[in-house]
Amino acid sequence: MEAFPRAILIDLDDTLVDDSSNVDACWDDACAAVAPRLRGVGVDRLRAAIDRRASWYWSDPKRHRTGRLDLRAVRRHILELAFAELGIDDSGLARDLAEMYRQLREERAQMFPGVIDTLDRLRAQGVRLGMMTNGAADAQRAKIERFGLAAYFDHIIIEGEFGAGKPDRRVFEALLSAFDVAPGDAWAIGDHLEFDVLAPMRLGLHGIWVDVRNAGLDGRPGRPHRVVSAFTEIVETPV
Ligand SMILES: [Mg+2]
Repeated sequence: MEAFPRAILIDLDDTLVDDSSNVDACWDDACAAVAPRLRGVGVDRLRAAIDRRASWYWSDPKRHRTGRLDLRAVRRHILELAFAELGIDDSGLARDLAEMYRQLREERAQMFPGVIDTLDRLRAQGVRLGMMTNGAADAQRAKIERFGLAAYFDHIIIEGEFGAGKPDRRVFEALLSAFDVAPGDAWAIGDHLEFDVLAPMRLGLHGIWVDVRNAGLDGRPGRPHRVVSAFTEIVETPV
């Protein structure tokens, strides 16, 4: 087994918890459920409009930064734009659809297999674990609680509580200083190449990218120290 560092900073969504692989299915199912209320607009057209508006919304880093702290408002906004595009004038329906989607996302989020065992093994090796997660305090706390993750982490930084989010260096620096470890003695791991891996690498941490969608590094800027396809691989010997 590879020698572990003194501390590991770990992302939450799509690293420990499979949070977004079901985005399309949740929209599909929520839209299908409200089909009778769409007044002749086909579910396919609504789905396409939602995808377009969501891509537009999240493509802007500034909107991303504020939007991820209030997903409920963002989803309502995206639906209002999609409805306007399709000529559907029904704000109650937009609200219901947003709520149905939120519930489905929450119900279907689940921990990746082997995560708890991996956290146990790291802790048994004496590694200090820090969680670094962007997003709103209530939503992220609820996930941490639901999956019983708090017990495994010595420190947890949630953007909505901390006042800054990845890739802001203060997030990584705060965790390093809480552990009193040098950057060279710490790993950072997550599915977001820039936020979880390249940004902490610039401070001297060892960066591990979880290529959870098997997207590969081709055409992407920067090179992580290591690429894995699942968080649990970090306790396996690299090949
Ligand atoms: Mg993530």
